[in-house]
Amino acid sequence: MSAKINIPKDHPRYRAMMIRENMIKGCENKVVAPAGLIAQGRGEAFDYLIGEKTEPFALDAIKAAACAFILAEHPVISVNGNVAQLVPDWLVKLSEVSGAPLEINLFYREPGREEAILKVLEKAGAKRVLGVSGRRETIKELSSDRRIVDPEGIYKADMVFVPLEDGDRTEALAAMGKRVVTVDLNPLSRTPNKAHVAIIDNITRALPLLAEYIISYKNKKREELEALYSSYSNRETLRKSLVFMAERLISLSREI
Ligand code: ATP
Ligand code: MG
Repeated sequence: MSAKINIPKDHPRYRAMMIRENMIKGCENKVVAPAGLIAQGRGEAFDYLIGEKTEPFALDAIKAAACAFILAEHPVISVNGNVAQLVPDWLVKLSEVSGAPLEINLFYREPGREEAILKVLEKAGAKRVLGVSGRRETIKELSSDRRIVDPEGIYKADMVFVPLEDGDRTEALAAMGKRVVTVDLNPLSRTPNKAHVAIIDNITRALPLLAEYIISYKNKKREELEALYSSYSNRETLRKSLVFMAERLISLSREI
């Protein structure tokens, strides 16, 4: 058990530290895998580089992602331990506004983890969660446990939202002809490069905005959404995010 620490509210890194404590708690409850803590640390480092704010390149991707959700016939939200621990309420909200079911899909399948994540989602108000019913289908493009998916969910989905995902799975889902949308703070990792839409932002900031855009875009005509989606370039987004980080670092170096 971690010692309970008291973080003063006026601490300059209060928010990031509270999130860190929350992740440690998730690890103790089996929701977060130990490797998930390392992934969180990698994310924090990139969040530092972008200045912990949603930048225009992320907003462009959020708008394209909203279109992808609405245009899809069978959109699905893939949930792993980190995401469930960080934003359970927003996952439920996103599922409600988009009509996309939540599916628990894990890289590390230790006994009790799926149940622990299900509990977190149900506590946040989730009524139906896929990936836990025992019904299984396999993605042939992948080896190991990650190939197991729900036949009612990811298997038949035409669009999959896979935040904080690993590169192999993203590539396999895209190779199956699915539209893949991710959230990942590291534009250099393989996931955002293999996805069709990559939101380079912290998931804690990106999900509320994504839900908001889905609500406001729902009234748009299909053609308008298709045009908006096709005008989006993921390569351009990744390039812009790297240029932003590079320029920001140069400008910060001048202040030292
Ligand atoms: P890949 O396999 O895609 O090359 P990786 O092995 O670094 O990359 P994973 O650990 O499989 O990546 O996935 C976690 C990803 O999620 C990392 O790129 C990390 O930067 C990112 N990440 C971690 N925490 C957050 C967060 N709170 N918001 C957004 N992204 C995050
Ligand atoms: Mg990886």
